[in-house]
Amino acid sequence: MKCLRCGSESLVDGAIYSPIRTAFRPQGAKFLTLETGDIQTKAIMCKNCGYVEIIGDAMKLRRLTSDAGESSGNIT
Ligand SMILES: [Zn+2]
Repeated sequence: MKCLRCGSESLVDGAIYSPIRTAFRPQGAKFLTLETGDIQTKAIMCKNCGYVEIIGDAMKLRRLTSDAGESSGNIT
């Protein structure tokens, strides 16, 4: 894994706190009975240039936003 900004491989895993851990809430999400609409994020920071990349839980996003009539999507 490389930094998207400078290409360095000196990346450190972590999380963004502000002051509680930041979560992403998709617009129009279905609220399931057993979990909230918040999606936890994690962050990776480059030791070389300071670039911070924030990554959310894509599996949960799909659970929250999947519609019965729509099966198309980009699964990577
Ligand atoms: Zn970098």
